Amino acid sequence: MTRNRAILLGLGVGVALGAAIHPGLGLLAPGTGKAAADASGKIGGLFLDLLWMCIVPLVTVSVILGMTQLGDLRKLGRVGGKILLFYVASAALASALAVTAANVVRPGHAISAESRKRLAKDFAGKAEEIVGTGEKKLAERLGKKDPSVLETLGQLLLKAVPRQPVKAMAEGEMIPIIVFALLLGAAFTLVPGPKAAPALGALEGLQEALIRLVSMILWTAPVGVAALMASVVGTVGLDVLAALALYSGTVSVVLVVEGVLVYGAAVQFLGGLSPLAFFRAYRPAMLVAFSSSSSAASLPVNMQCAESLGIPRPIVAFATSIGTTVNMDGTAIFQGVASIFIAQAFGVDLTLGQQVTVVALATIASIGTAPVPSAGIVMLAMILQGAGLPAEGIALIVGVDRVLDMLRTVVNVLGDGVAATVVARWEGTPATGAALAPAGSAALDGAHGAR
Ligand code: ASP
Repeated sequence: MTRNRAILLGLGVGVALGAAIHPGLGLLAPGTGKAAADASGKIGGLFLDLLWMCIVPLVTVSVILGMTQLGDLRKLGRVGGKILLFYVASAALASALAVTAANVVRPGHAISAESRKRLAKDFAGKAEEIVGTGEKKLAERLGKKDPSVLETLGQLLLKAVPRQPVKAMAEGEMIPIIVFALLLGAAFTLVPGPKAAPALGALEGLQEALIRLVSMILWTAPVGVAALMASVVGTVGLDVLAALALYSGTVSVVLVVEGVLVYGAAVQFLGGLSPLAFFRAYRPAMLVAFSSSSSAASLPVNMQCAESLGIPRPIVAFATSIGTTVNMDGTAIFQGVASIFIAQAFGVDLTLGQQVTVVALATIASIGTAPVPSAGIVMLAMILQGAGLPAEGIALIVGVDRVLDMLRTVVNVLGDGVAATVVARWEGTPATGAALAPAGSAALDGAHGAR
């Protein structure tokens, strides 16, 4: 059985196990079901820890080497500029699509007053916690209470230069790590060849070893994915899902349209690659993203999938490592639909200007959202405040957020691969789709070609 099939099987087994331990089914005593869900959450967490373990060294080494392989700062400026342009344009398109869909479907009008009151009451504590945690974290980080979306982004940019790179690495702060690695890589291009060679040779060796380490970790993916799925399915509130069916349906359909149609068209027409080859190669990353709800945890697999498409390593390094934190079209879609849904549910009539504000804020907020589970809903609180909408509205949607987080993370991760494919073509080195065997088989078994 190929590894992809094994991971898919793991997903199916996880869903079945989760359903079996779900209290709604009553197969197990409620306490036992919860204990089983907790235990499988811990096993899944171990798998994610293994992936997290690789992220900081992999990003640091890949970005430094990517920089030296590109050769000079001007080329980096060009490639980086194209990647960033692609990210911002696609996020704006995604949030506009989401706001339009929410206006057409009007999911907020479908929710009965009774369900609304019940959700607002049941999840008030959780919503407050989310708004509170978000505010607290930002206040700690930015030294300011109640920052706006723009202030948050501005401050994150100002903090992009790490005073202590090792501290940034210890804390897993991606943007400062990338800035440090970019500058160090640029400096390496100025060091005479013979002097730089030993250090670069060592880094190349380290990069190869890290890639193989990720391949080894992926052997545990079927069990990890099964455990993560069992814990999510075992704890999801079915009654909440039913009450929010139209909202969840709208978010999901727009995510699928973005992930399949928009990305498929971008890969085909801008990237010159068959969408089928692209989605096939991206299966492992999609499965890990879906079960982990974390773009960051998916990054090592994301890199390997992009590379298995024959995209040059420097472009893969920039598009995926920068994209993991910056490029989140799935999150922009969720934030767009959720904002309009909350406005509708609370009977707030949004003017066209306010709707455009929501699109702009969702675009910016998706860039500032951390690549970890539930980060998008924390940023949503800021969008709501920025657009003059009630932040307590989060209580209405928090009950289904975990499931939607899984879907939007898949789109977030796919978006990085799309950007890598498109920019590779713009740079005259298009993805071949077959430089290596499909990810998940030989490529992930360690048969890497050097590029
Ligand atoms: N979980 C998402 C991610 O890691 C972020 C979000 O919550 O929207 O990509």
